[in-house]
Amino acid sequence: MHIVILSGAGISAESGISTFRDSNGLWENHRIEDVASPQGFTRNPQLVLDFYNLRRAQLNEVEPNDAHVALGDLEKLCRVSIITQNVDDLHERGGSTNVLHIHGELRKARSLKTKKVYDCLGDLNVGDFCPDGGQLRPHIVWFGESLPLLSKAEATVSTATEFWIIGTSMQVYPAAGLINSTPFGCKIYYIDPHSAAVKCSDVTTLAEKASVAVRGLVDEKIANI
Ligand code: NAD
Repeated sequence: MHIVILSGAGISAESGISTFRDSNGLWENHRIEDVASPQGFTRNPQLVLDFYNLRRAQLNEVEPNDAHVALGDLEKLCRVSIITQNVDDLHERGGSTNVLHIHGELRKARSLKTKKVYDCLGDLNVGDFCPDGGQLRPHIVWFGESLPLLSKAEATVSTATEFWIIGTSMQVYPAAGLINSTPFGCKIYYIDPHSAAVKCSDVTTLAEKASVAVRGLVDEKIANI
């Protein structure tokens, strides 16, 4: 059995990290185009760096919730691949070891010059250069940028026996399109309290919070193995 997870901001909501669909397209009171686009970074790089500095610092104040931990537990039963749109590190801290961050990671930065990726634990500022002379920017995929890990994610989904979509509005493409890479016969679950986004007879919808529904599904697997 190979369970593939596609997670979005909703799985981290119960840990205290806000989603942006739930706040009318704003992310922590900022317009998305100001803080999550290359144009926004060109207009005001320090505003964008400060936005991600705050998000990175917030990681020290939040903990994985029971949905993250349940997915970590699931690895004891079968092969699990996590494809997350989240830039936080809560899946890893919940015990998952096979996580693909298709939209990047807060705890990484990269050179504007060579795209070389570095670990990033503290704040980034305008004038922070890496050894190659490039300004450091957050290692985040912004709107309008391509997803370097997309084909790897598609290949992973194509070998799924089960595909669990958790806490995502399925509005952000191409991530939302990964559902189209599921193979014939793959069982699909969609876990989201506002689960109107996916209406399809092949999908089992669980309109509940991730902590409740994911733990329930994992317990069901444990009972049936
Ligand atoms: P989204 O904000 O578009 O949608 C969040 C979804 O989560 C909504 O459908 C909402 O109903 C659902 N939700 C809210 N509370 C939930 C809960 N307790 N359990 C389950 N579901 C719940 O998020 P998205 O679809 O992931 O797209 C957002 C984009 O913003 C992503 O690209 C991501 O990179 C970025 N983002 C990341 C984080 C993070 O890393 N934690 C947070 C905000 C935004």
